[in-house]
Amino acid sequence: MDSVLIIEDEPHIARGLEQNLKFEGFSVRVANDGQTGLEMAVDRQPDIILLDVMLPRLNGFEVLRELRRLQIAAAIIMLTAKGEQLDIVRGLDLGADDYITKPFALSELMARIRAVLRRQRSHCVKEESLSFGRVEVDFKKFSATVDGRPIKLTTREMELLRLFVEREGEALPREEIVTRVWGYDYEGTDRTLDNFVLRLRQKLEPDSGKPKHFVTVRGIGYRFLRNGA
Ligand code: CA
Repeated sequence: MDSVLIIEDEPHIARGLEQNLKFEGFSVRVANDGQTGLEMAVDRQPDIILLDVMLPRLNGFEVLRELRRLQIAAAIIMLTAKGEQLDIVRGLDLGADDYITKPFALSELMARIRAVLRRQRSHCVKEESLSFGRVEVDFKKFSATVDGRPIKLTTREMELLRLFVEREGEALPREEIVTRVWGYDYEGTDRTLDNFVLRLRQKLEPDSGKPKHFVTVRGIGYRFLRNGA
């Protein structure tokens, strides 16, 4: 089921959209301000975000900028007010996928949603399995083997691994990894991430003391290299 996050502070619009999208078969969540919307987007990774511009706490542009900085994969459709041409240009510049001008017909919104979902599917096939070195990981079955022997990975370890795979070769900043894997309001210590990476190394590296795949990037964070350092 495709999931939609509605970030909209006008209750009657939010409620109307929620009911109609549920009726169309989407799983729907609503946030009534920008900050809450941002946190829900990071924590729940919806397929689509409907994002109002004028919002309390963070406005729509601020939310959009932060979502794109964190490389949240959701398709984002801006809900702009009539006649706000500048809003549209700015939103598209900041990485919105599409926009729709209020007031709009539900049929028009549905057409936009289907179009962005189609585009998203065509160039963003999520990796379902992975092999590197002696390791095979199946993200769908949540299973992994080393040299054909099954090993246990926790949900968090899987999420961390998936992030590394999606962003293979990039130096990933610590804060970004923590936000993506543990959520926006995570308040653990810095050591938590290091401990998780250490566990991935112990489980998946040939020699965890000399990591080839999960490499430390000094002063920044970590980098995943499928073919080894
Ligand atoms: Ca508004």
